[in-house]
Amino acid sequence: MPSMYSTIYVDDIREIKEENPFESMMSRFDRAAQLLDLDPDLYAVLRVPNRELKVYIPTRMDSGRIQVFEGFRVQHNFARGPAKGGIRYAPDVNLDEVRALAAWMTWKCAVVNVPFGGAKGGIICDPQQMSVGELERMTRRYAAELLDFIGPEKDVPAPDMNTNEQTMAWIMDTYSMHARHTVTAVVTGKPIDLGGSSGRREATGRGILFVINEAIKRFKMTPAETRVVVQGSGNVGGIGARLLHEAGYTVVAISDIHGGIYNPAGINIPEALDYLRTTRSFEGYEGVDFVNNQELLELECDVLVPAATENQINSQNADKIKCKVLAEGANGPTTAAADEVLHKKGIFVIPDILANAGGVTVSYFEWVQDRMGYFWREDVVNERLQDKMVASFNDLCRYADAHSVDTRTAAYMLAIDRVAYDTRMRGIYA
Ligand code: NAD
Repeated sequence: MPSMYSTIYVDDIREIKEENPFESMMSRFDRAAQLLDLDPDLYAVLRVPNRELKVYIPTRMDSGRIQVFEGFRVQHNFARGPAKGGIRYAPDVNLDEVRALAAWMTWKCAVVNVPFGGAKGGIICDPQQMSVGELERMTRRYAAELLDFIGPEKDVPAPDMNTNEQTMAWIMDTYSMHARHTVTAVVTGKPIDLGGSSGRREATGRGILFVINEAIKRFKMTPAETRVVVQGSGNVGGIGARLLHEAGYTVVAISDIHGGIYNPAGINIPEALDYLRTTRSFEGYEGVDFVNNQELLELECDVLVPAATENQINSQNADKIKCKVLAEGANGPTTAAADEVLHKKGIFVIPDILANAGGVTVSYFEWVQDRMGYFWREDVVNERLQDKMVASFNDLCRYADAHSVDTRTAAYMLAIDRVAYDTRMRGIYA
């Protein structure tokens, strides 16, 4: 192996800390770079972020005292356009995680061929323990610290874990107050009345449906005879499961953080989700068996959709996964150490950077609509999303066949290839 790749790449990736998302991402990046025989200069540029900002955010709490929160924004790459990526609020968010997620955004945007680079942000805080007023003041001060670095042409944040439409509206307003005019395109995932896009809320789940529709054709299966297991019932898992159910799939299991329900004959998903909404748990739901999240992942099924959180499929359970198709709704649900096992089992993986890219694709549509000041009907948004997801799925499969690699490796190779090409054409300003 050429020495330039030796910084992080190790032959046996089980030697790296399996659950570290940055190392997981880098090991896949290095493998793809090696297979592409990537030029060493491009390799050196693409394996690091463009910029990492760390900000301290004084916030007046309801008690009247000031609390200083620590926040990040990592801008990984701008070669193909403004950086794009969510902002998460969590007590355990850290720079390594944000760095990995920022790079993932670069590769995700390149896989679906939208003209964005990648970024991600985070604030170390416990939003469940904060009032709405405290969250608003913290968000506005964070946005004020980022004023010089974000903008429709620079970096366009979006919601992520524990942030939502309201958070985006506060950031948009703070940015606009300083710009002295309303700048809707500075963030995506806004309320529809404030320049948001129809179909954005369902976009990630809908994107998953579109790629699963394509994947089952490879197995000559119809939706009705396809049994699906979904982990997670939030924005991605819940909406994805509902759309799959509406499209005629047999969803046999679904879970939330506390555990899941299973019925091999299929679950009435809208009813089960209504039950979850009212009782805040699947417990007590009738006509099903109860499984924990580990058992759920190991159920017999045709399509498994991990749509909850990272590292769910790992070296401990990869050999027990029984699906034909793994459609990764969450970011990083499979560790790098599990890749090889899944590949050997012949499982067809729709990697996260394609499977869950419906969200960023409709974010791109939102940004386009904001800049035009002209908004599309929801059926137009959905049709354009379908075009993008299907074309990207087919590009990926062709690429994997042409290079005789698995789909995960192909996704990274395709993305790196696109970003590297654009970087080479622009030239490195060095
Ligand atoms: P969410 O908070 O709406 O839902 C998460 C779901 O997962 C909930 O049902 C929760 O109970 C469950 N869950 C959380 N931790 C769990 C655990 N340890 N074990 C089992 N279940 C658990 O979040 P979301 O927006 O649906 O995001 C889910 C994943 O998809 C995340 O990895 C996120 O980064 C990724 N993602 C989201 C979007 C989007 O548009 N929302 C886009 C791309 C990727």
